[in-house]
Order: sequence, then C-alpha cells, then structure tokens
Amino acid sequence: MEASGWPHVTRRPDGTLALEVGEGVTSSVVRALAAGEAPPPPFSVRALAPLPAVPGGERPITVDQTHRSVIVGETVVVKWFPRPVRGPNPAPGLLAHLAGFARTATPYACVFWEDALVALVTAYLPDARDGWEWCVDEAEAGRTGFAAEIGRLAAELHLTMATPSDTFPHPVRLSPPGAGAWPARAEQALRDALTLTDGEDGAWLAAHAADLRRELAPLTHAAPTPLIRIHGDLHVGQILRWRHGYAIVDFDGNPTVTDGEAFQPAARDLAQLGTSVDHAGQVAVRRRGADPAATAAWAARSRDELRDAYLAALTEAGHPELLDATLLRPFEIEQECRELIYAARHLPRWRYAPMGVLRSWFSRSSF
Ligand code: ADP
Ligand code: MG
Repeated sequence: MEASGWPHVTRRPDGTLALEVGEGVTSSVVRALAAGEAPPPPFSVRALAPLPAVPGGERPITVDQTHRSVIVGETVVVKWFPRPVRGPNPAPGLLAHLAGFARTATPYACVFWEDALVALVTAYLPDARDGWEWCVDEAEAGRTGFAAEIGRLAAELHLTMATPSDTFPHPVRLSPPGAGAWPARAEQALRDALTLTDGEDGAWLAAHAADLRRELAPLTHAAPTPLIRIHGDLHVGQILRWRHGYAIVDFDGNPTVTDGEAFQPAARDLAQLGTSVDHAGQVAVRRRGADPAATAAWAARSRDELRDAYLAALTEAGHPELLDATLLRPFEIEQECRELIYAARHLPRWRYAPMGVLRSWFSRSSF
C-alpha cells in the first residue's frame, strides 16, 4: 500500500495547535488534492487553481525558514505551518486576489484544519535562490542592476493589489485626515528598540534617539494617502531569483507585527524592501569581508535605483499617487527599530545588521 494519510493536529495544553507531518504525508496530500478528493474532516481545502500532474517523490526545503516547506515531484511546494493559528490569516484572500499576478509561485490551494490555516500549496520555481543569497552576491560584487528590476516587480505587485477583483472589489481606501495610528506605532517601536538594545549599541541608539525621532516626525502630519493590501513582510528573502526571473513569495504576513492593519500605504512595503537591501549589504560585510564604506554606498545607490524604478513603473501605469514618498524615510526608520526588536527577542545574532545600517545612515548624514 502507498504511504498515505493527512497530518496529525493536536491541541496543546495551552490551547494552541501543533501539526505533525510524517514522511510521505505531503506527497499523499498533494495526490489527494490533484485527484479532487475531499479531505477528511476537520480538514478543508480552498482551491485556487487546478493542480498539475505531480510526479512522486518529496524533499524538504533546507534554507532558513519560518515554516516547513516540502517540494513534491519537483512541481509543487507545500508550506506547512507547524504551529497553526486559528482565525483569519491574510494569505488565502491575498493569494485569491493575486490570481492575475504572474510573478509569484502560482497558488493552487489553501488547507485548513477547523479554522486554522495549516498549509499553502504553490508551484515550485526551479533553481530558486532567495535574496539572502543572490542579493548578498550583488552586494559583494557591487552591482546594482537588480535594484531597478525588483523596484518594477514591487510596483507590479502594488498595482495588482490596487486593481479590483472578485475577492477585493474595493482594494483602495484613503487614509483619514490626521495621522491615525502610525506615529504612535513608530514611536513605540523606537522606544522598544531603545529599551531592548543593550551595551555599546544601546548607548549609540540612545545618543541618536533625537535624530531617529526627528525622522519619524513626518508621520504626524501625513496627508490623506491611498491605502492598499500590502505584502506586509517584503524583504529580499521573499524575492526569489529563479530560472525565469524574479518572483515574490510568502504572503502570510509578518509574525512580528501584531497590530498590523491590513490596509497600509504602499510605502511600508517599499521601505522594508529598501532596508532589506541594506541588510544584505551588512551580511556581505560580516560574512564575506566586503568593504563597509563601499557596501554602504552600494546600498544607498541600490535603494535609490529601486525607488526610482518603482515610481517610474507606477507612473507609467497611471498611478503615481500609490506612493506617498514622505512616508518612506519614517517607515525605514521604524523598520530598523523593528529589526532591533526582532533581534532582541528572537535572534540576537541579527542585531549587527540593523545596527550597521543605522550607523551607516547617520554617519553619512550627520557627521
Ligand atoms: P517562510 O514563511 O518559512 O519564510 P517562504 O514562503 O518564504 O516560507 O519560503 C521559504 C524558502 O523556501 C524561500 O526563501 C525559498 O528559498 C524557498 N521557496 C519558497 N517557495 C518556493 C517556491 N515556490 N519554489 C522554490 N523555492 C521556494
Ligand atoms: Mg519567507
């Protein structure tokens, strides 16, 4: 008999869920989905597109990842959520809305257990490497040609986000006059970063708190601006360079932002993407011995080219208003604070990246 079955979901004493996926289970689930079989309750499936024929064989993806992705038959990727969370998840709606966006891994299906999303099934992109590899290569080599390409890619994503679909018939809103929650959210991120960062880095931050706060000030008098569904965790690690170009993946939100309102200015994604290029530069300095000053200059050039190409693509499509450029710098600063918070709480060895970026920004502009 073929290995078969569905994963095992257990309720833990604290009420959260745990998912176990045995050997062979992923390919068995994919086979069942491809055959249109009804899943055993309480599993359910939201189909987004018909699955292709999938040969046998499965292997795990082994790069650093938050979840657990398994490739089946070199055709399909199943991303399992080992700690499924009950309640609404942005990914199914976003993936349904993005049906017309070719530059992602084609989404096939979402799998639920009761009301918890347990898996996303998408197309496998051959020869894919994420930006923590390819963008670090670019940093090391000092090449910026990629920046305009990913700038246009981000613009295409946002233009699709802003186009009505059956899933989101009204995809664009206008922010209310007055600043709403953004200044308080940014200020809180700055305070948390200051509190959680100790040692020499903490002292440097404290000495620059006024500079950082000044950069957040434009949020307080932001004019009404269009809001769309954004990617929400758009960094170079979510941009795959594969056999046929670049693709954006991983639409299941940012686990470190809990107060994230679904509708946001596009500038939030663009700010995060730009800072992640800087982080790739810091990785090149730390791990590959790239020159710090040359790398900071490379990152600044790349960020400029990325933003210019992004805006040019919005303008060509007749929607330059989707980018409120006054929000970019404050969101970049907030993002770096979030990186510091993430490092303090989850990944101490990451602190060098946001610290390196902040030092490079402030030593260029204020000394
Ligand atoms: P996580 O939420 O765990 O970060 P991602 O969706 O970002 O999951 O995927 C993790 C990694 O798996 C990516 O960085 C990439 O290397 C690889 N990957 C993801 N989707 C695909 C795909 N469709 N084809 C090939 N590789 C992929
Ligand atoms: Mg990811």
